[in-house]
Amino acid sequence: MAQAAAASAREILTRLHEVMARRLPAQSKLNSVVQTIGEVLNSEVCSIYLLREGVLELYATRGLSQDAVHVTKLALGEGLVGTIAANVETLNLDEAEMHPAFAYRPETGEEAFHSFAGVPIIRRERAVGVLAVQHSDPRRYAEVEIEALQTVAMVLSELIANADLVDSTGAASSRPQPTSASHARGFKLVEGMAAGVAVFHQPRITIEHTVAEDTEAERHRVYAAFDKMREQIDRMASQAEFGVGGEHDEILATYRMFAYDEGWSRRINEAIDSGLTAEAAIERVQQRTRQRMREIDDPLLRDRMHDLEDLANRLLRIVSGQLGTAAQMGLRQDSILIARNMGPAELLEYDRRRLKGVILEEGSLTAHVTIVARAMGVPVLGRVRDVRRLIAEGDMLLLDTAEESLFIRPTPATEEAFSAKLALSQKRRASFARLKGEAPVTVDGHRVTVMVNAGLRDDLAALDLTGADGIGLFRTEFQFLVSATLPQREAQRRLYKDVLDAAGDRPVTFRTVDIGGDKALPYLNHDEDGDEENPAMGWRALRLALDRDGLMKAQARALIEAGAGKTLNIMFPMVSEPWEFDEARALFEAQRAWLVARGKKVPVDIRYGAMLEVPALAEVLDILLPKLDFLSIGTNDLTQFLFAADRAHPRLALRYDWLSPSILRFLKRVADACHAAEVPVGVCGEMGGRPLEAMALIGLGIDRLSITPAAVGPIKAMVRSLQRDALVETVEALLKDGNVPIREALTAWASEHSVELS
Ligand code: PEP
Ligand code: MG
Repeated sequence: MAQAAAASAREILTRLHEVMARRLPAQSKLNSVVQTIGEVLNSEVCSIYLLREGVLELYATRGLSQDAVHVTKLALGEGLVGTIAANVETLNLDEAEMHPAFAYRPETGEEAFHSFAGVPIIRRERAVGVLAVQHSDPRRYAEVEIEALQTVAMVLSELIANADLVDSTGAASSRPQPTSASHARGFKLVEGMAAGVAVFHQPRITIEHTVAEDTEAERHRVYAAFDKMREQIDRMASQAEFGVGGEHDEILATYRMFAYDEGWSRRINEAIDSGLTAEAAIERVQQRTRQRMREIDDPLLRDRMHDLEDLANRLLRIVSGQLGTAAQMGLRQDSILIARNMGPAELLEYDRRRLKGVILEEGSLTAHVTIVARAMGVPVLGRVRDVRRLIAEGDMLLLDTAEESLFIRPTPATEEAFSAKLALSQKRRASFARLKGEAPVTVDGHRVTVMVNAGLRDDLAALDLTGADGIGLFRTEFQFLVSATLPQREAQRRLYKDVLDAAGDRPVTFRTVDIGGDKALPYLNHDEDGDEENPAMGWRALRLALDRDGLMKAQARALIEAGAGKTLNIMFPMVSEPWEFDEARALFEAQRAWLVARGKKVPVDIRYGAMLEVPALAEVLDILLPKLDFLSIGTNDLTQFLFAADRAHPRLALRYDWLSPSILRFLKRVADACHAAEVPVGVCGEMGGRPLEAMALIGLGIDRLSITPAAVGPIKAMVRSLQRDALVETVEALLKDGNVPIREALTAWASEHSVELS
């Protein structure tokens, strides 16, 4: 069967190759194509319909009345041809008239024909036309004939695109409801609204050549690509750092199963036998698989289909040599990026002026890619199922993450409503912006310190825009993440100096590099002893920095030089035991002494702090606090360790609440200890940027927050409407009880006390 299909297809393709090579007008080529197919398949009728201005127009026919050419037109979904295009599906009928969608067109003279088979002509996963055959005998076409038609349809799509014969947008979109608007839901990772066109982080390859010049050469290209792909998958499997969160093991097992599936490579080989190029053969097999999968209504299988799509795309990218991400190709204006998941460094490669939003199939609130997006001011919707099935490259999208909502190919009415809401939200943002000159003081007179988290040079503008009190967390590793090689000391010094200059009198707290976990650097060998099973609990942050003290010394020198004549605030991430803080501080002090000995200017004061992210540290605060100038609680890591729940795992993203008694009691204990020791304490995790959570923190007695810049306005508004002393009492009572759902109780309290929770 497969061989027979290949033989028919090969014969047609050989003849089509000649047709395509001739210098003929496109119309003449299409006329020759229908003749050739009709002859080889011994079919009385062969017709090509192409999508022009949203309707399917009969472009060439052998067997139907020539008067119908360019006259017969069908809307998408109308008649058999319209149904094939709308659903991107094949029809094979022995009695065409019996099909419910059949629409009789007298000008064609088709009443003489009983059997009908049609296949979609697909470009970028969408139907741009239909290739149909008809016969006077009431018989179904054989599987081999259908296969041959589908292969020919691929070649036709190349011819049609080159001749610019169809709507450039390829308007007949893919399943299930082609051009129609649709809607998807997700989980808000970064709040915001955005309108833009869909861009795939890993773009699908557009196939330029479908007919092979040399079949053996194509076969070798595919063999080599398979080898390379298998090597990549094996490497991923041996590196636990694959992706950033997600069900790694399960995905990798499926990838390997497909990568080594003999059936898959055999089918690609057969498609090459029929005369297709390597790229066209991979796509041809993928089209067939998509069709089969669509017929099976099983969510589990649909998930597997994603994996296979990923892999087929990877194979196509290897074989075609088009390896880059959309970042390397340059973004169009107003783009919304779509990915299964991505790392923070990958996101940072995009032009932030053009990137308007991100949609992830996975994702979680405190994964670093989310934090980076938040810092970039880019809204992110995570955990959107089936995005790659619902959206095609270039589709118009409207993203409203506050509503956890995504409109795909929106109707004009939806666009209008969206624009109205966007204008309103901009107005609200403007009203927050007006708060920039107002101090965050509670109704009963308590001053709260509201600072911003930053990490990129571009973030510095946020200080003036928000009127924040300073930078409470400067993530120095971001400079390392965006760089292809380890940043030189001088480059580090320049950045730190620019940050301090931009801040002026406002304090800046630099955190020493927190590399490792989901912030792996490609140029740094993270684990010299082998792969890490749990990189978040592995050799990262201060652990790595103390062991590789060359890196830490260079950074210390850069910071001290940059801070000359000023007060420098330094904090160390992931301190797990007090001696680690001692060592880190000693390293800095040695660098200061070294610089002083050489007559260099140094800061007037260096204040040292620790981040509390590892729960064990809370048990030794009596030893640690006397050593500190300040303590900053990193609730992102702290809560992942308290709950033993990976902060990047999409399934755990909603499972535990920051407003649970366990977290709040823990934080209260730490805050009380700091107050007793007179050590300033603040929170710099994402928790502090959410109005209700920030309110709870203030209720625990924590009055220093360092948050994402976009949250400053809403947090100031909340603080300025708050009765702090009454809240402290309420929180204390709630924590004592422990049985009351705290989120609900605090929401009700806020509403009763007119607290502004935007
Ligand atoms: C934290 O863990 O809360 C924190 C602020 O650090 P990061 O998110 O960079 O790990
Ligand atoms: Mg952390």
